[in-house]
Amino acid sequence: MAKGKKIKKGKNWKKFWKLGIDEFNTQFFGISKDGAMTMTEGHHVYNVADLAKKYGTPLQVIFPSIIEFRLKDLIGYFNAYIKIYGYKGKFFYHYPMKVNQNKEFILPLLSEGANLEVTSANELWIVKKLWEGEKFHTKLRVLCNGPKSDPYLDLIEELRSKGMNIVPIIEGPEEIERLSKYKGDIGLRVDLNIKADTHWDKKFDRFGLSEKEVLDLPKMKNLKMMHYHLGSQIKTQKSILDGLKHAFSIYAELTKTHPNLETLDIGGGFGVPYEKKKFYTAKGVSSKIIKLLKHLSDKAGIRHPNLAIEWGQYIVAPSQVTIYKVISEKNIPKANAKAWYIVDGSFMNDLKDTWAIHQKWHVVPANNMTSNKTKRVWLAGSTCDSDDKYTEGGNYIMMPQIEEGDTQLVAILDTGAYQDALASRHCLLAPPVKIVAQDGTIKIARKRESSESIAKLFGWNGEK
Ligand SMILES: *Cc1c(COP(=O)(O)O)cnc(C)c1O
Repeated sequence: MAKGKKIKKGKNWKKFWKLGIDEFNTQFFGISKDGAMTMTEGHHVYNVADLAKKYGTPLQVIFPSIIEFRLKDLIGYFNAYIKIYGYKGKFFYHYPMKVNQNKEFILPLLSEGANLEVTSANELWIVKKLWEGEKFHTKLRVLCNGPKSDPYLDLIEELRSKGMNIVPIIEGPEEIERLSKYKGDIGLRVDLNIKADTHWDKKFDRFGLSEKEVLDLPKMKNLKMMHYHLGSQIKTQKSILDGLKHAFSIYAELTKTHPNLETLDIGGGFGVPYEKKKFYTAKGVSSKIIKLLKHLSDKAGIRHPNLAIEWGQYIVAPSQVTIYKVISEKNIPKANAKAWYIVDGSFMNDLKDTWAIHQKWHVVPANNMTSNKTKRVWLAGSTCDSDDKYTEGGNYIMMPQIEEGDTQLVAILDTGAYQDALASRHCLLAPPVKIVAQDGTIKIARKRESSESIAKLFGWNGEK
């Protein structure tokens, strides 16, 4: 903190920046004495501003301990409610790999007991490598969603023949015949005829079999699982439970022709409170799901189904922070915000959903967090694209005023879901450096790309 800045004594800055709050998933984040953002892992404390200074910006910091904590917590809730309500089915967590395929995410999830769900042959190839390296338990189950290209189906068959517990999920009518001959368990995906409260327009869904197709299916002895997925970032608990109720009615009907059916997979979609407003909780929803499933299956007189869930975003989003440095400030004459803070990375490249689905983020300064002189700003990236900006939906972001000669860092929280595989290199900006903070040490997971390595991606192979 530079001299001369006024600090109002006693202000609860942690609360002001919404850090240290369980229901916002910021319980591990805080503020150091000198106003820097911190992350606490057991007895270790990481100073995020120092990390940005040491490793440079743009920077992504992954905290595997948060991933582990969140999964352990979630599995704990479900298993506890299963016991409390005397539910007879088992609980299975499947991590949907598409949410973040980075090794630094997958390995901690496996160590906490996650099963996997993949969507493509290339994701499955990673699973194959893990399998060959004996990186997971032989009982781990892999669900295969998405349309099955021939290479994808071939790899599924290959891994099954090697003894992997791998379950393809029928995605369309043309897969029924081939998969009914599959020598292991299979599942199917049903396109539920209801609309969940997400931004996804279900009217034009193209995933899975229609409810009618499901109920008209020929008998398949190996059909063990019925799966559905309502969409991502479901806004209300009611939507989750309404979807479950509706899906259960189809599940119960299907068990009449398919008595081997044993698992209901309710997919992903559990939301993250990106905007730090009141939100439903995993504790509350897990209790309601088990209670509802018990009630419905007892009423229908069928065996309590095993429950599989694929909540991806919920588990991994809060475990990564993206940090930028402000490199320029420009006044805005007439708007909700007074100035643009232009940062040294790109929202359009590194946090693609900012542009694609108008994602809102939890944005805080990573230093000067206790400065009383704040300013309403909009943030802009360094590409030449007018869409490369973050304005909190035309509202504003609160940031410290920048004193002459001072460096201002901006931290974007909850960036661990989806952004990495969607990322791009518009204007050939380099993506953030990726570091992993665990057990009190820092490991560089991905170095900064050089001009040469970026140019190579576009065919420039060492021309003179
Ligand atoms: C994307 C997806 C998920 C994960 O969704 P989240 O919103 O991240 O929980 C799970 N299952 C399927 C089939 C998906 O397509």
